[in-house]
Amino acid sequence: MKTYNLFREQVLENKTTCEQEVSNVLARIEDKKDLNAFLETNKNVLEQAVESDKRFKAGNPRRLEGMLVAVKDNIAVKGMKLTAASHMLDNFQSITDAALIEKIKQEGGIIIGKTNMDEFAMGSSNETSYFGAVKNPINTDYVPGGSSGGSAVAVAAELAHTALGTDTGGSIRQPAALCGTVGFKPTYGRISRSGVIAFASSLDQVGTFSHNIEDTSLLFDVISGRDDADQTTADLEPADTYKNLKDVNFENVRVGVLDDKILSQCSCSTDILNVYNKILNDLKDKGAVVETIKFLDSEYWVPTYIVLTTVEASANLARYDGIRYGHHTDKVIDGEDYVALNRGEGFGAEVQRRLLAGTYFLVSDADNKYYTKAQQIRQIVKDCYIEAFKKVDFMFLPTTASTAFKFNEKQEDQVKMYLSDLFTTSANLAGIPAISIPAGCDSNGLPIGMQLQTGSFQEEKLFNFAKALLK
Ligand code: GLN
Repeated sequence: MKTYNLFREQVLENKTTCEQEVSNVLARIEDKKDLNAFLETNKNVLEQAVESDKRFKAGNPRRLEGMLVAVKDNIAVKGMKLTAASHMLDNFQSITDAALIEKIKQEGGIIIGKTNMDEFAMGSSNETSYFGAVKNPINTDYVPGGSSGGSAVAVAAELAHTALGTDTGGSIRQPAALCGTVGFKPTYGRISRSGVIAFASSLDQVGTFSHNIEDTSLLFDVISGRDDADQTTADLEPADTYKNLKDVNFENVRVGVLDDKILSQCSCSTDILNVYNKILNDLKDKGAVVETIKFLDSEYWVPTYIVLTTVEASANLARYDGIRYGHHTDKVIDGEDYVALNRGEGFGAEVQRRLLAGTYFLVSDADNKYYTKAQQIRQIVKDCYIEAFKKVDFMFLPTTASTAFKFNEKQEDQVKMYLSDLFTTSANLAGIPAISIPAGCDSNGLPIGMQLQTGSFQEEKLFNFAKALLK
């Protein structure tokens, strides 16, 4: 099992069946249990595969017929758990499908299971999950990245054809880079978030993991489009990128890069810089124009992201009080604050840290030092991109400054952990689409990811160029 594209071809040629594929995958999931990628698998998956086989036999397979999709556990799937990997929601089961899950099912996609993640999508290593860390399948001593680590591992370890994640500051692209898959975050507003647990609503987007651009584009087309239940979705028809995938002539491409000063501030590993420079040189050899783009100093990106996301999270997660939603304490309380006790027990350390920080940034913003300032810097980041995309078609940069790190390596120093998202947060601040593609390995055999970003709603262009680079 590799890509959905190939699998579909094999079903059409009667070389395999959906039922066969599902049995293989379920056995593989069992075999790879120690990776801790799945929190739950779908009990009806074999029946659904039989239905898909009937469709293939009858000659009317739908667009995603038999595609096995792993779903991050902050996206609602009817009848399955929806925990956000938190003790706060560990008993919660969803009674509805998220809007995008409905679309996947309507097109014949099969939800193989719910994947582990950092608690409430806060983390870069998957170590903050209430259900234990996820391991990197390339080398199990290393983290898979986060927060969508389970979804990245599901694809990298071939436990699903594709997977869904959410990306607020890099939670799809960073684990994709660390596990060696394609990871894609679309333009803000392109996919409905109705039925998706919010972290920081002005940045959250659903996106995909897969082995190639074909599957990325196919899945994106199906799940994109306006949804009246999510008023932040753009008033656009679903995307139609898959049938427009085509070869790109590098001579017509203008690629933007950050200046060396920024790259050295970011202390990229030598292996990553070597790969990065090699790709740039290849592009130049093939006639692409490479231009250095003036950009806001990188030291502002992560702090701005942290202020905005913690503030928004403090509002979004206020509903989990153990009365309206979520875990409530079994302790007999005597004059103690019931809600504080529920939240203290229900949320893990990282979530508590962020909620405290977010509340602090808001209440101490009287002289506009934090939240207001962060909003202003966000606008500067957006403006930098608007200017950049007047000159170039894409920004090209590493996805991460280092490859996968070992468990516990960054636990003691949260700032180091937050800096794992150095190259990814700016796309979320600006709302633009971005993709991480596998680009080789470092000297320890750990995957390296490179990132492409482009202007809002230009996903088709992004896929075509990414496909050409992946060749
Ligand atoms: N790793 C980042 C964080 O911890 C990004 C999270 C995300 O994109 N959901 O905030």
